Amino acid sequence: MIFLKTEDEIELMRAANMLVAATLAEVGKAIRPGVTTAQLDRLAEEFIRDHGAEPTFKGFPNPYGGPFPGSVCTSVNDVVVHGVPSEETVLRDGDIISVDCGTLLNGYNGDSCYTFSVGEVSPEVQLLLKTTKESLYRGIEAAVAGHRIGDIGYAVQSHCEAQGYGVVREFVGHGIGKAMHEDPQVPNFGRRGQGKQLKNGLCIAIEPMITMGSHEIYMMPDRWTIRTRDGRPAAHFEHTIAIHHGKADILSSFEEVERIESERLS
Ligand code: MG
Ligand code: MG
Repeated sequence: MIFLKTEDEIELMRAANMLVAATLAEVGKAIRPGVTTAQLDRLAEEFIRDHGAEPTFKGFPNPYGGPFPGSVCTSVNDVVVHGVPSEETVLRDGDIISVDCGTLLNGYNGDSCYTFSVGEVSPEVQLLLKTTKESLYRGIEAAVAGHRIGDIGYAVQSHCEAQGYGVVREFVGHGIGKAMHEDPQVPNFGRRGQGKQLKNGLCIAIEPMITMGSHEIYMMPDRWTIRTRDGRPAAHFEHTIAIHHGKADILSSFEEVERIESERLS
């Protein structure tokens, strides 16, 4: 079942997503060699709760095992998604870390993810990050009323595969609203003109998960952490958008995150 949102609901979702954006910026300020992913998680949880919201990921049910223990997913290097924050995972110079964050504010969900560089990252990995982020915006450009879900996936996939990168198949974007995951699914691969038609009021999270090598993945025994099979790095960028007045209205934001990222890396 797809739930189209009213104007008021879109504004509630924007508020939840702007809190996600602010949380990612807050986490971004703390990212440096020597920091643990557990420290980043505590920072995020406190920030979200201080702003009157719930970290949606905390206690999120798992069809394969126990609930998610963290408030954000912290996925380092070859971890594609769902990295569990840990005191043992210490960031090192040259790492990348995707921080995926969800908030529930006034009954509506925000969901966005950014992949940060830790210190000096190789040019090869920088290109993976750049291309993955570009593919997110290509997907967003394709998300206009009258187009179809497959147009989004096609835009993401063609951009990344042209660089020789892999597009993860097992995890996809999704509808979002009162629930974190609603219909429809939004794959990062697809064919133009196929799938459900995009209509005003549709809110979806678009989230390319892109690998430097093969797109094959596996799950760790913790039943959360997803790694690339070949051990090469993966990137993940995500925005929540609404189809609004015929076009994609980005409800989350990287503006503050990128301001902090450029200060930190300069
Ligand atoms: Mg997410
Ligand atoms: Mg998502």
